[in-house]
Amino acid sequence: MKFDLIDLLKVKNSLLDIVNTTYVLPGIKNVLLKDLINEEKIVYQENRYKTPEQIAEKIKEKGPKKKKIIVKNEQYYRDPDIISYAKKRANGVCECCGQEAPFLKDDGAPFLETHHLKALSEGGEDSIENVCAVCPNCHRKLHYSSHREELTKEVRDYIANIYN
Ligand SMILES: [Zn+2]
Repeated sequence: MKFDLIDLLKVKNSLLDIVNTTYVLPGIKNVLLKDLINEEKIVYQENRYKTPEQIAEKIKEKGPKKKKIIVKNEQYYRDPDIISYAKKRANGVCECCGQEAPFLKDDGAPFLETHHLKALSEGGEDSIENVCAVCPNCHRKLHYSSHREELTKEVRDYIANIYN
């Protein structure tokens, strides 16, 4: 697959549990996903107290930056039956916030995303008990919120309750 750097950042944000990912940046070198994440974190900190104008100036100084890169992924397999089971179990309602899915897809199905409560990369199982179907907002919260641990516990308890 070919991505430019903007696409890469989007992909990187959405795939936390990819392991051993190598990004081949032509003319540069092969870099691991974790290094790119670190680079993004470093830049985030660098830019934290800069104005948008100061950042724009920095971007301008770097010159044209649209590049195609080749991305090679090693990823845990996710059983599509578990994904569709979790979405049917949720029945169009986020299993985290309890709100309706934010929109319907072309086929009329509500848009929800599946999330592993314990990441596959951290030894979590690809099982119906470890997967929830959530709205995109809650999905991001489960990954990035300062309250993600409490939130994860709430969803885990909710799912566990279904099977008790
Ligand atoms: Zn939600």
